[in-house]
Amino acid sequence: LRVLGIESSCDETGIALVELPDGRAGQQPARLLAHALHSQIDMHQAYGGVVPELASRDHIRRVVPLLRQTLAEAGQALDAVDVIAYTRGPGLAGALLVGAGMACALGLALDRPVLGVHHLEGHLLSPFLSSDPPQFPFVALLVSGGHTQLMRVDGVGAYQLLGETIDDAAGEAFDKAAKMLGLGYPGGPALAALATQGDPKAFALPRPLLRGTELDFSFAGLKTAVWTQQKKLEAAGTFDEARKADLAASTQAAIVDVLVAKSLLALKASGLDRLVVAGGVGANRELRRQLDEACRRRRIRVHYPELHLCTDNGAMIALAGAMRLRAGRARPTTDYHFDVLPRWDLGSV
Ligand code: ATP
Ligand code: MG
Ligand code: FE
Repeated sequence: LRVLGIESSCDETGIALVELPDGRAGQQPARLLAHALHSQIDMHQAYGGVVPELASRDHIRRVVPLLRQTLAEAGQALDAVDVIAYTRGPGLAGALLVGAGMACALGLALDRPVLGVHHLEGHLLSPFLSSDPPQFPFVALLVSGGHTQLMRVDGVGAYQLLGETIDDAAGEAFDKAAKMLGLGYPGGPALAALATQGDPKAFALPRPLLRGTELDFSFAGLKTAVWTQQKKLEAAGTFDEARKADLAASTQAAIVDVLVAKSLLALKASGLDRLVVAGGVGANRELRRQLDEACRRRRIRVHYPELHLCTDNGAMIALAGAMRLRAGRARPTTDYHFDVLPRWDLGSV
């Protein structure tokens, strides 16, 4: 069974073809045959954030060339596609509609069923495309640009929310701090790069909810603290490149500290010994280093998506669709009256 995946929820257009071994080979992992991605980051950079209307228009321009590229790379013709999975939500309505419309148009033309997939389920299952895929059950730390959640995952579609951010997401905290430091958008990777040159202990930034036993997060206070610290340094005339790197390192340390502590707490509370990290912030090297170290000492196995599959892509959507189909947890449809769900709770899928 070959599943085509289409992702267009925000500022990345992603197309992928995944092959699902059929029948008794049920336990074999799905295989990524090819994928293609276009990021709109350069286009939105000038505005300091994603402009929804521009995002939709660009998805429309990219989706067909990326589809052609994916099929060419996979060495497959269009009619090799058996099911078309697309991101149904959450995300920007206009952007989602492009992927959904494309999926349904393809389905209608090829006479193939379509399947709407939850974007976060894509992130969550993306480590199954790595060379060392996890096994259920596990605790998942989902850290992306719009979400920060801890979940207990017992199987495909069996997701129990353990805790989540009460304000900003971890990726958002990275991005907002980076923007204040003049590092552009989205600044997560740039802040992480600058942090390697700074002292993470230079500034004592707040680590909200760190000491509590609850599994919720709060990152909104951090940006205020970074702002205040930067203003102080500027007023004293000491805000040079070195201090900027120190502030970046201290910001990253505060975010990573909280993410690691809460992940360990969730593992302890659930009695599980496997952790799966997913979402864009999962690409952060300092987060990976500290999680690896903390988990090694506790004999907990940690799984990550491959670095290039941490942020949005079509592969994770094709995979989530394929895994749902195999688990009997999805009904692909030939009713092409699509709708999208800009706000959609993962617990409800
Ligand atoms: P969501 O999936 O919640 O709808 P999204 O799709 O925008 O949001 P992702 O694509 O998963 O989020 O991730 C993007 C986020 O990851 C951005 O906030 C970005 O700054 C952050 N990010 C990416 N790489 C790194 C890194 N190396 N260190 C820190 N943050 C990073
Ligand atoms: Mg993005
Ligand atoms: Fe995402």
